[in-house]
Amino acid sequence: MDARIGKVLLTADRIAARVRQLGRRLARAYAGREPVLVAVMKGCFLLAADLVRAWPGPLDVEFVSAESYAGTRPGAVRLRVPRGLRSRIAGRPVLVVDDIYDTGATLAKVCRALEALRPAEVRTLVLFRKRRAPARTGPAGAARSGHRRPRRRTRPAAVRPDWVGFDIPDRFVVGYGLDYCGRYRNLPYLAVLRQGR
Ligand code: 5GP
Ligand code: MG
Repeated sequence: MDARIGKVLLTADRIAARVRQLGRRLARAYAGREPVLVAVMKGCFLLAADLVRAWPGPLDVEFVSAESYAGTRPGAVRLRVPRGLRSRIAGRPVLVVDDIYDTGATLAKVCRALEALRPAEVRTLVLFRKRRAPARTGPAGAARSGHRRPRRRTRPAAVRPDWVGFDIPDRFVVGYGLDYCGRYRNLPYLAVLRQGR
């Protein structure tokens, strides 16, 4: 196996079982309606394919693509929305599906862009969510009085996913659609990427 692949956090079987369960729950939640599932590419391609096959019910599928500029401009996301999407989602319930939720910046940006296209509603699902230190809301002036500031940035409160597959440790992970420099998307499981040298 590739030396960069570390601990397997979620096996292919566990992921498959959870995705099937989510598919059934979504079908119930959207019973009587015909939502548009908007998958955030590229990381979401396996999830989208598995989720729609586990979803017994009418739905349509659309794609947007998001790229984050980690390193260069932290938090900056480049989003591409296909022309003509407005006419396909206007007035309809939209479910945004993304692979992983870290700071929430990507999901927030996607939701903002889609809201502008006047859907009936926007709800969200992420398969993996990183566990982060909770926001510390200490007494005002805590920073000034010498308390250490939280090590991690806290999440913007803007978008909280409506459905979450798994909460995972705050590590860089690959597999099941998630890449590192364009590799490892095809791994059927989710694993930690080992530090390289
Ligand atoms: P956020 O915008 O929530 O901070 O991060 C979400 C995006 O960053 C994801 O859609 C994904 O593209 C990327 N990302 C965040 N954490 C990881 C990770 O552990 N592994 C990989 N491969 N991508 C990640
Ligand atoms: Mg992504």
